[in-house]
Amino acid sequence: MNCLDYRRTLLAGDGESDEMKAHRLQCAACGDAHREHLAFESDLRRGLEVAVPAGFEARLLQPRVAKRRLFLAAASASALAAGVGAYAWLLRDDPLALACIDFVMKEEAKSIMMGAMPRTEAARVLADSLPLEQLERIGQIRHIGPCPFNGATAYHVVLAVPQGKVTLLIMPDTVLKSGQRAVHEGLHAAVAPLRKGSVGIVGSDAAVVSSVAGAIRG
Ligand SMILES: [Zn+2]
Repeated sequence: MNCLDYRRTLLAGDGESDEMKAHRLQCAACGDAHREHLAFESDLRRGLEVAVPAGFEARLLQPRVAKRRLFLAAASASALAAGVGAYAWLLRDDPLALACIDFVMKEEAKSIMMGAMPRTEAARVLADSLPLEQLERIGQIRHIGPCPFNGATAYHVVLAVPQGKVTLLIMPDTVLKSGQRAVHEGLHAAVAPLRKGSVGIVGSDAAVVSSVAGAIRG
């Protein structure tokens, strides 16, 4: 259990497991997040009518998972072939990649609470940088919404892939000449150039981050 897992599970509203509680008791930051979450929930209960945003999940059918697993396996193989081995992570701490990790640690929970954007709107704003259909071939979109990042508007995506979850920060206005990487606080980040702009990918597993980056690059 790391801070990222703790906060995501907390926000998912499934309650706190023993493993989560053990983490919270020795982590001041997650202790604060837990208190805030309880306060937020009791505010909601106190009479707010919560409109559940139209979810992405209902229309995503299970058989696609097997297809994605194959797709990601192929992408990992091509990332290896391109020489993006595990050692590549050790040598790099690029600023934009570090900023992506910082976002996940400090801003992700808040960004999810601010709410998701409608699918049609997401499809429109991402069409030129990272089309939604391409993302959906890689994983299941659990959250997508705009957020301020690196001095511009980015689109924050929580993507569930068969091997776990990753966070994407799609930055249509941030042009990047070459890829970036960083490792910090147990999280791995890769930033890759897109047709228009760039995308940061953050997760706790280096291989999963690499394979999602490979799948996005195609
Ligand atoms: Zn923590």
